[in-house]
Amino acid sequence: MICDNCGKNRAFKRKMTHSYGKGKNLVLIENIPVIDCPDCGEQVLTSDTLKEIENIRKGGDKQLKQRFIPVAQFA
Ligand SMILES: [Zn+2]
Repeated sequence: MICDNCGKNRAFKRKMTHSYGKGKNLVLIENIPVIDCPDCGEQVLTSDTLKEIENIRKGGDKQLKQRFIPVAQFA
């Protein structure tokens, strides 16, 4: 694929996991499609992808799977 940033034909699509927000609003989204360019290091999310991320973040319990992470405290 052509990279929007540097114009070289080395960009490729891949999936990434990214966290958005903080604290209670922290959401981890897996399998986000990004266009990654190894030449200039640019990572591009299409406008459709950004919209979908917004939808997921607003979606509340419907789309969010609660995942419990074990937490230990140093006594
Ligand atoms: Zn590039």
